[in-house]
Amino acid sequence: MTDGSQVLILGGGLAGLSFAIALAIEEPTLDITLLEAHPFQSGTANPMDTRGSALNLHSVALLEKWGVWSSLGAHAGAIADIHVSHRGHFGSALMKAADLDVPALGYVIENHELGRELLKRAEQLGVTVRAPVRCIALQSDGDRPGVQTEEGEVLSADLVLLAAGVAKDWFHGLGIRVEERPTHNHALVFNATFPGQQAGCAFERFTPHGPLAVLPLRSLSRSEQRFNVVWSVPDKQVSVLSGLDDTAFIAAFQNAFGWRLGRVTAVGQRSQWPLVRLAASEQYRSGYLLVGNAAHTLHPVAGQGLNLSLREAGLLAPEVVTAQRNGQPIGHERSLTTYLQHAAEEQHFITRSTDLLATLFNRRGPALDVPRNLSLAMLDLLPAARARVAGMGTGRRGAR
Ligand SMILES: Cc1cc2nc3c(=O)[nH]c(=O)nc-3n(C[C@H](O)[C@H](O)[C@H](O)COP(=O)(O)OP(=O)(O)OC[C@H]3O[C@@H](n4cnc5c(N)ncnc54)[C@H](O)[C@@H]3O)c2cc1C
Repeated sequence: MTDGSQVLILGGGLAGLSFAIALAIEEPTLDITLLEAHPFQSGTANPMDTRGSALNLHSVALLEKWGVWSSLGAHAGAIADIHVSHRGHFGSALMKAADLDVPALGYVIENHELGRELLKRAEQLGVTVRAPVRCIALQSDGDRPGVQTEEGEVLSADLVLLAAGVAKDWFHGLGIRVEERPTHNHALVFNATFPGQQAGCAFERFTPHGPLAVLPLRSLSRSEQRFNVVWSVPDKQVSVLSGLDDTAFIAAFQNAFGWRLGRVTAVGQRSQWPLVRLAASEQYRSGYLLVGNAAHTLHPVAGQGLNLSLREAGLLAPEVVTAQRNGQPIGHERSLTTYLQHAAEEQHFITRSTDLLATLFNRRGPALDVPRNLSLAMLDLLPAARARVAGMGTGRRGAR
């Protein structure tokens, strides 16, 4: 039993679980319940998620603070350098952890590992995790925000975090407008292996079809390097590529990626993710706060969506604690003003940079190759610019 305020979190994806942990760590007296529509069969809401997340150093520091990284770190692949290139053209950039005097530029962790560890930690911290429980409506109980489940149960709390991902229907009920920009692309995500020892190089390659990220995973053997691949392809092509047998698929992937790592030895299960960009016009209404993909769904080109959510979880927790300790209602807009301001600044910066990168590299046509090549070449030529980009990638912008 606790005597703290109540928080209800709708959605047990990586964002919902992270917010639960950040709040529970900062204020153990909070009474936190998390509802997830799917069963957590293998520790994650979606065991078919073949994605990996590139985490910047700020995210890793937060996961350390929350007591998650000690068990997770052993499963992560370190990014020692980042190689950026454009298929068929000159221009490449190499950012090295050593140049920035950091042990790694970031780490790549498979989502199912991250989900499993976040779930374990949330439960250890006393978060009540209920799954499978599907919510079907938002329902206030007097002046307290709440939700109604499929079974007809009504749950209310002092603050409700809506972490239900790209589920726009929720916002209509709140009167929140959502700006949706389709990219007409899907991300095809899979693991691939190459011969040799893992050197920790991450590749971002811009192909005529869209960006292709090849991210180093923890090695399972000394003779094989494992990578998580995010291949953005036009909607029309995704089912064609997904339908290929392994041999034909490897040939297509090798053709797009090139031979920098040698011959692809194997590919794993492929999953596909529609690439939509969503931005909610407001993040807060009457005790409901939108977080994670529900608040901002970004193009994965810069690998910033989850990093941004973790940063926001780290920002929200102290604000909630201050409100509770000052005897203020934690779900009141006044108590969340500082969070909403800081989150808006972070979102503006990350969304703008990510959109710029996605737009630049998704355009087709030779006329656009010159600025593209120039920008890539500039990264190599200008150490200051490179450090700035890496600073963004490593999450070292600002001290918050
Ligand atoms: C291809 C790809 C690669 C990416 N790579 C990176 C990366 O390298 N680095 C990075 O920082 N970010 C990355 N991202 C972004 C990152 O994956 C997301 O930001 C992150 O997963 C957070 O998602 P979420 O928890 O907000 O939403 P979701 O993962 O969608 O979770 C929402 C949860 O809510 C549950 N839910 C929905 N409706 C209900 C309901 N009615 N009742 C109960 N529960 C409900 C769902 O079942 C789900 O579990 C990538 C994204 C994509 C698509």
